[in-house]
Amino acid sequence: MVEENEFDKVKIIRLANLILSQAATNGVSEIHIEPFENDVRVRYRQDGELFNALEPPKSVFPDLVARLFEMASIEASFEVCCKLPTDGWLRLKINGNSFNFILSSVPTVWGPKICIRVLKPSEVRLNIDYLGIDPIAKRRLDEALQKKAGLIILAGPTGSGKTTTQMSILNFLNAPDKNILTAESPVEYLIPGVNQVNCKPEIGYFEAMVIRKFIDQNSDVIKVKLEDFERVKEAFRAASKGTLVLGSMHTNDAPSVLTRLMNTGIEPFWIADYVFLIQAQRLAGKLCPNCREEFKPSSGILRSFNINQGLLERIGFPETDPAKITFFKSHGCELCKKGFSGRVLCCESLKVTEAIRELVMRKHEYKNMLGDIRQKALSEGMITLRESGIRRALLGETTLERVGLIHT
Ligand SMILES: [Zn+2]
Repeated sequence: MVEENEFDKVKIIRLANLILSQAATNGVSEIHIEPFENDVRVRYRQDGELFNALEPPKSVFPDLVARLFEMASIEASFEVCCKLPTDGWLRLKINGNSFNFILSSVPTVWGPKICIRVLKPSEVRLNIDYLGIDPIAKRRLDEALQKKAGLIILAGPTGSGKTTTQMSILNFLNAPDKNILTAESPVEYLIPGVNQVNCKPEIGYFEAMVIRKFIDQNSDVIKVKLEDFERVKEAFRAASKGTLVLGSMHTNDAPSVLTRLMNTGIEPFWIADYVFLIQAQRLAGKLCPNCREEFKPSSGILRSFNINQGLLERIGFPETDPAKITFFKSHGCELCKKGFSGRVLCCESLKVTEAIRELVMRKHEYKNMLGDIRQKALSEGMITLRESGIRRALLGETTLERVGLIHT
């Protein structure tokens, strides 16, 4: 009897390891372990798409969850997790690479549903030079990173790669003479030398409170989410005291960050004084280089994407004659999934120049603030998210179809 229990335990350990290592080595970004009435479903998300991976018997589910919780140092029992949400993280060495996993659990009617985010080895991903930021946006970012105090804001919906960009920036700024702190919920990447705080708003440990403490500790660089007035106010206070703030916001494009900030009630002169760069971003499916095929776009396609000589010049593409450009498409091969493998970054970089500052300061005189800011930024060389996507498509990195999915 004892032997049988031991055997079961070994099987559970193997199953947990199999799920984690299979996901990590196949470039899976999320693992979902979902209980239903009679069975359990394990799904993986790869390149943004979910698919079924395993169907372990329901009888092993409580032990599997307990094992994952044990690995993630979560003290709550299986019974408690059937009633309350919880989270934790774990690190595992797979084929010589160290992977971090963030585990969260939420009670459903059939038991705790587990979501595990797979974070790739940090040394590979957290490098601003490897993110694939457009040349114009990269120049603006490099320039902004020379400054000592103020706000650099990343904008985009969930899943647009903001955290990866921010953590890559922190990795770049990380040095023994810098006091770097982050307020996160939850912590996603771990960087040695950076003080990362896992905020828990559900137990009253709020980010705004943490940012106040960062200021007390004389921070040089901080990373925060700018999601409500309290956090925004503290972030600006930190900037005014000499901190470089890497903020993030859930807006669709870069100009909207300025109007959103104005709507929170922050004084326009604070915004004009301290925000110096906004980068909105999106991820689009990356075309498989093995099976992509070149094609000449019809005039209808060019028209629907507003592709003309002016646009080609704006985005700095070497060929500016629309009649001579080509795009790519793919139907998939044995090396990819439906023609795509990985994702590319599209970005819209708004530099807060003297002219933009002027607009922000005189906000009461303008009826269409958002439109005016956008127009001014475009006249000063800003490339929109969609234009950045078109440039990627011209380079054969993605398809026009995927670019068309970028909504602003
Ligand atoms: Zn392929």
